[in-house]
Parts: sequence; C-alpha cells; structure tokens
Amino acid sequence: MNNDIISRADTVIATTYKRFPIVIESGRGCTLWDTEGRKYTDFVAGIAVCCLGHAVPEIARALSRQAERLFHVSNLYYTVPQVELAEWLVKHSFADRVFFCNSGAEANEAAIKLVRKYFNDRKETGRHRIIAMEQSFHGRTFATLSATGQEKIRKGFDPILTGFDFVPFNDVEALKRQINEDTCAVMIEAVQGEGGVRCPSPGYIEGVRKTCDETGTLLIFDEVQTGIGRTGRLFAYEHFDVTPDIMTLAKALGNGLPIGAMTAREEIARAFQPGSHASTFGGTPVITAAALEVLRTIERENVLGHCREMGQYFKAQLKDLQKRHSVIAEVRGLGLMLGMTLTIEGMPVVQACMEKGFLINCTQEKVLRFVPPLVISKAEIDGLIACLDGIFQGYS
Ligand SMILES: *Cc1c(COP(=O)(O)O)cnc(C)c1O
Repeated sequence: MNNDIISRADTVIATTYKRFPIVIESGRGCTLWDTEGRKYTDFVAGIAVCCLGHAVPEIARALSRQAERLFHVSNLYYTVPQVELAEWLVKHSFADRVFFCNSGAEANEAAIKLVRKYFNDRKETGRHRIIAMEQSFHGRTFATLSATGQEKIRKGFDPILTGFDFVPFNDVEALKRQINEDTCAVMIEAVQGEGGVRCPSPGYIEGVRKTCDETGTLLIFDEVQTGIGRTGRLFAYEHFDVTPDIMTLAKALGNGLPIGAMTAREEIARAFQPGSHASTFGGTPVITAAALEVLRTIERENVLGHCREMGQYFKAQLKDLQKRHSVIAEVRGLGLMLGMTLTIEGMPVVQACMEKGFLINCTQEKVLRFVPPLVISKAEIDGLIACLDGIFQGYS
C-alpha cells in the first residue's frame, strides 16, 4: 500500500517537495497513523498549523454544520461566519479590519499591496520600498519571495520584483541606516521560523517600532507562523511593548483548513477600496465557521496557558539534553516554537526520530524545529526527549 501510493505519487505529483516515505492516513490529538499502521507523535503539526491537534471533533462539527447549510457565495454578499471571525480577530488584537484570503503568502501579498496603495493614495509614490530581514520567509508568490531574505528561495526566478531591501535581523542600527524617504514599510517575523527559529534580542522589536515611528514607516508583522498562540500569546507582538500597523495570519488559523488573513489599523486598511484587491475563496463560510471554532476552543480551553507551561517545560528539557550532548549548540524559541541548533546535519536525526515514532522538522540544515500542536502533553514531550537522548548518544 505504502510503496504503491509513493510510486503513484512520484509519477503524478509535482516534484516540489522531497517527501518522507510514509503515507499518513489518520490522526487524533498529537498522534498520527500511517497506512502500515505505524504510530507517530507529531511535533511538526503540519509546520505549526494544527494548533489543536488532528481530527478535532469540535472543529469537524463546526465544519460539517456549516457545510450542510452553505459552502460558498461570492464576497459580493455578506455571510455570518466571516463577520463573526473578523469580529473575533478585531476584538482580540490591535487591528480594526480584516481581509481574508487562503494562505500565508496571500496574506503577505495583500499586506505588500496595501502599504503601496496607502502611500500611493497620499501621493507619495516615491515611497514604495519595503525593508525585510535577512533569513526571513514570507512565502512563494512573486512578491513574497521577493520579500524573502534567502537566496535559495529566490534562485532561478529572476527577474524577481524590485523594491525590497534587506537588513540583518536583530540589528536596529542596520535598519536605521537602510531606512530612507523611499521606504514605505518594514516587514518582519517576531520570531523567524523557516529561518531557523531565531528570536529577537531584548529591545530589538521595540527598536524597530521606534525607528518606524520616527520615519513614518509602516510596520508589518508576518505572524503567519507565530500567530494564533504558537509563542504562548495569541499573537507574538504581545510579548513586546509594541503594536504593528499590519499583521498577517494563516497557518494555525484554520487548524489545517486553508485560510489567511491580513489585518490592519483602520487608517491603513482604508487604502483598500472596492476593487483594490479581492479573493474568490477568501473568508468563505465553511472555512471561517471552522476557524472561529478554532479560536473559541483556544479561548475556552485555556490553550495559551497550556502552551506557555509546556513550552517552558519542553525548553528546559531540551536545554538539559544540551548539557549532555556536545552536538547541541543552542536551544532557543518562544512558547511551543522551539529550535535546537546542531553542529551536525539535522536530517539524519529527523530520520532516526521518525523510525522511533516521532515526527520532527529540520530547517536551515542544522536546526531542529519543534512546533507540536499546542495541546501536546508532558508525557509526549518526555517521549521525544528520551528518543533524542538515545539518538544523540550515538554521536558522542
Ligand atoms: C509558512 C509561512 C508563510 C507562507 O505561508 P503559505 O501558507 O505557505 O503561503 C509566510 N510567512 C511565514 C512566516 C511562514 O511561516
């Protein structure tokens, strides 16, 4: 069964991913099963997507309830779930308005268009450049890959869009030097995810906000990965003494259903007028009804408190491993967005974990990334720690 599916996939599926040779069939909570009946504890969660775990009954019910009534109408009409989801996001964040789309890249694409339009409306057309960070990741569409500070993502697609400048993450002085009268916005991840779970130094995010304020530059937070509780707060900006002007969301918002959102302050959001931007599927009733249930569940079940507690525990356990194994260079992260940098290649460790029934991720070759469902238990964390301990013993 496995081999058959894999060879069929390798014939017909676009060759954009290097996949592990397992076929996942079902899941529950933080556990997944493959077609051979093997069981895995999932510390990937679809890359920080399934915040409440797999096959969540409440979400499935909300989805099917709405599916029985209405799948889709155009955004030419109002629908109740879309309004309720937007109200929830506005109530729980700095934002005043929400544009719904289907992915992180689309949310960032909308943010990039919005800041351009905002200054265009003010007749400041020269003010169109966006500063992003080295090692950032903002998506795979043309605008978002042009905003991504990693050569490997942009390679082969020249000419990419112009109008993007890059500065090192965690360096306010470099930002101050780069920002000028052509800059319309700064785009940043509060914790760089794909870039290797890199955290901001104390005062850095506040310094970025101050620099933007002093120059009238808009600040876009890409919270596609950090948002919806991943770092132990609903949004990562809440860890700092700042609010962004625009924030983008996706990954965990639908717990696995495709949804993205670009949120903004009123004054800025107003730059989008009827006809400025659109999305056929953006905010469609079935998906927004499910996403609303995701957010309500997070609130009702105190998932953020659990995430903070488990995040602290998990990080302490990883640091303990670091004391015992010299191949571990650093442990870092916020909440349940944790990274472990190694002095060796990470992929063999990922493979070894998979063979022992644990799914973990590796980014930037040497950084193990742990982004489990936020409902992960202590026992599940202990299981992975014991597994890693055994694997690292082979390296010392
Ligand atoms: C995953 C990710 C994206 C891209 O999201 P897609 O839904 O794959 O388009 C953008 N920004 C960040 C920070 C991400 O982690």
